[in-house]
Amino acid sequence: MNETATNTLFSYSTTEEITVFADLILPIPVPRLFTYRVKRDMVEAIKVGARVIVPFGKSRVITAVVAKLHNQPPQNYQARYVLELLDEYPLVTGYQLQLFDWMSTYYMCCIGEVLNVALPSGLKITSQSKVQFNPDFDYPELLNEQESALLEQLKKHPSLSYEELGRLAGEVNVPTLIKSLVDKRAVIVFDEVKEKYVPKMVRKVKLHPNYEQPEQLLALLQRLDKLPKQQEVVMRYLRHVPMQRNPALNKNGLDKTILNQDDELSQSSLGTLIKNEVFLTFEVIQPRFADTFSPQKEIKLTPAQQTAADSIMAQFGEKGIVLFHGITGSGKTEVYIDLVQKVLASGSQVLYLLPEIALTTQIVVRLQKVFGDKMGIYHSKFSDNERVEVWKGIVSGQFQFVVGVRSAVFLPFDNLGLVIVDEEHETSYKQHDPAPRYHARDVAMMMAQWQQAKVLLGSATPSIETYYQAKQGRYGLVELFQRYGDANLPFIALVDVKRERKQKTMKNEFSSVLYEALADNLERKQQSILFQNRRGYSPYLQCEDCEWTSQCLNCAVSLTYHMRAAELRCHYCGHKETVPKVCPTCGSTKVKTVGYGTEKLEDQLQIMFPDARIQRMDLDTTRAKNAYQQIISEFEAGKVDILVGTQMITKGLDFDNVSLVGIFDADRIIHFPEFRATERAFQMITQVSGRAGRRADRQGRVLIQTGNPTQPVLQKVIDNDYLGLYEDEIGERRDFNYPPFSRLIKLTVRHTDQRISKRAADRLRAELAEKLGDERVLGPEEPLVERIRNQFLYDILVKLEKDKINVKAVKTFIQERITDILTDKGLRQVSIVIDVDCL
Ligand code: ADP
Ligand code: ZN
Ligand code: ZN
Repeated sequence: MNETATNTLFSYSTTEEITVFADLILPIPVPRLFTYRVKRDMVEAIKVGARVIVPFGKSRVITAVVAKLHNQPPQNYQARYVLELLDEYPLVTGYQLQLFDWMSTYYMCCIGEVLNVALPSGLKITSQSKVQFNPDFDYPELLNEQESALLEQLKKHPSLSYEELGRLAGEVNVPTLIKSLVDKRAVIVFDEVKEKYVPKMVRKVKLHPNYEQPEQLLALLQRLDKLPKQQEVVMRYLRHVPMQRNPALNKNGLDKTILNQDDELSQSSLGTLIKNEVFLTFEVIQPRFADTFSPQKEIKLTPAQQTAADSIMAQFGEKGIVLFHGITGSGKTEVYIDLVQKVLASGSQVLYLLPEIALTTQIVVRLQKVFGDKMGIYHSKFSDNERVEVWKGIVSGQFQFVVGVRSAVFLPFDNLGLVIVDEEHETSYKQHDPAPRYHARDVAMMMAQWQQAKVLLGSATPSIETYYQAKQGRYGLVELFQRYGDANLPFIALVDVKRERKQKTMKNEFSSVLYEALADNLERKQQSILFQNRRGYSPYLQCEDCEWTSQCLNCAVSLTYHMRAAELRCHYCGHKETVPKVCPTCGSTKVKTVGYGTEKLEDQLQIMFPDARIQRMDLDTTRAKNAYQQIISEFEAGKVDILVGTQMITKGLDFDNVSLVGIFDADRIIHFPEFRATERAFQMITQVSGRAGRRADRQGRVLIQTGNPTQPVLQKVIDNDYLGLYEDEIGERRDFNYPPFSRLIKLTVRHTDQRISKRAADRLRAELAEKLGDERVLGPEEPLVERIRNQFLYDILVKLEKDKINVKAVKTFIQERITDILTDKGLRQVSIVIDVDCL
């Protein structure tokens, strides 16, 4: 820009007036935007949706996103300068800004909290960030001198903090430097609190770039005429990497093991070639679904599936949202694939949401076989770098299709054509902690509506709320009640454990019926799945002589006994204790375990069936990054006879050799004190049952152990009577004015002093009820676990009817009342958690 011109243009104004200001979203829990000044040289380049680095507080720097640009200096503080502009092009789309704003209002949280959850750490460098060398990095030629020097330093350390980097880098601007290294994929940025990403490496080889051109290659081969072994190794490489035709293929190289797999001679020849630098070796991160890139057979929908797919498309003509109600094993995934292909072909983007746990497994492998590397995968167990790549891949157009968990709703789509929410009834779509406490299905619907995309909700056991919308005609409804390949739904039977206990035919926790069935299945070399929705060995210990039971110090719950780890553990706060040898109260040695979890079942099984191969799958056995997948693939490969697990085993798994499913403790699932308990029980039991009998040539069996076989919900499970369940449930919801007839907002008041907590809760309730009316404000009530981490909890439930109420105004009112209480000196340290649409 011409300096003089600028000066004349603004010669009458003070500098203050011509300054451009940026309203920024900072990823912190503060309920407002922050205004910063934009330096002159940044004015042209800065855009709404770009990231910037700004100072915050005394010595922190933080990444923020531009929400607005304007000329109004802030009223009550001196705006500080934006330090750096990180993006030439907006990294956050207009739709996303709209979404963040909507979510903060709807879910009653700070927009910064939304941003914080939305952006992967790799996209928000802060002074708390840590940086590590990316072992996958293979392009040193991209780096400038300074970056190379820094990278050498980084290699020597497991990771470096922001400050340490600053010291090593000297005078330069650290955020910009880090950003450049991130862009070049040379480093990985992570939050200190998070687990560090340890990738699995594969050794690869490629030809030295000197031989990439055809004539060079030819010369090499001629030179090797006299060394036939070495020539053969090069030829083998060329068979796998046909770079004669396309020299660029060399860059990706070839798995080293492929070159030297069969004989020793080729190994030593390869060794020589590497020594002579004909081949170069390098390492890359093993893709998580390494063996899945074989292109897939053409999928062909069955006539029933085709009808369903056509009907979905037809209904999309009139409705934005369609519910796809298909029984377990009906092949919903195949129908999704068909639709995704259609939408992608039309040039629009597709988002496919899956519950957390299902994403590491079979479904993704199936999708990947069809869509290959055109599909992005967004998963919380993936490293941040991978998440960043998916984000950028969407912006750049590399990924038109992403399959992901709930946080994938935050990705920068701007041309969505279709959103699929698989297993839409899954509660894991709702984020519990921290804020925003959003429901990914509902957020996805909002996003889809803005972008005029269609939404397909799929489930074998739809949530009552969703089914109601379909019944009302607000959503379309498509049904598929036929299993793929003529497989039948499993035969389900109830086993009366009370009676068996009386008759003394139980073997520990196993009824004789289940025991016989398991023995039978082992004999026939078929696999079984056992479901007990409780991990650990037993939910508590008890002294037979006095009243003592194992209790958590910090929470109002018992400590679960974990035999393998030889510990008592609190499942709420993580507190751990060693197992007492004698009763801590009376010294008695008669301390026994009460109740049973997956660990105990596993133990009893091993005693009853010493030769059976038994595997347990619950939170405790799947903590390591690939443990879950490993268990699944071993089971799939037939290396395990009986799989014992918690609800992890219910989700979307498809094993064709499983012919028996056993369900323990059904009563506990049914009698959970919550208005959705029956619905949940039906869903959970039906989903686990659905793992059995996926083959046409054999009938699957499900045995449900219960103390009360006459419970109506169990009968509905047996009859596969979803509609019956729905009719019952919707009646009750109507009678008691629960969702879908109302909206719920749960307010949880917390304080370490029970009296203060109660006082705050009473006051909040009273103030809310005064305006909203007693019938709309319930509580305060102590939740099931009334003390967690030494905080005493009280729940207040606000119930708002669906119409005739200005929900937005009510939310503002609630927020005001809460702020009022939180700023009351007498109620210091009280915290109030707001959960909109609580589950
Ligand atoms: P759902 O998700 O409805 O429980 P899946 O999509 O897992 O069912 O399908 C069950 C099994 O049937 C899977 O192994 C799937 O590969 C197979 N299957 C379903 N439809 C087809 C089809 N049209 N062609 C080939 N295999 C299919
Ligand atoms: Zn005792
Ligand atoms: Zn605890």
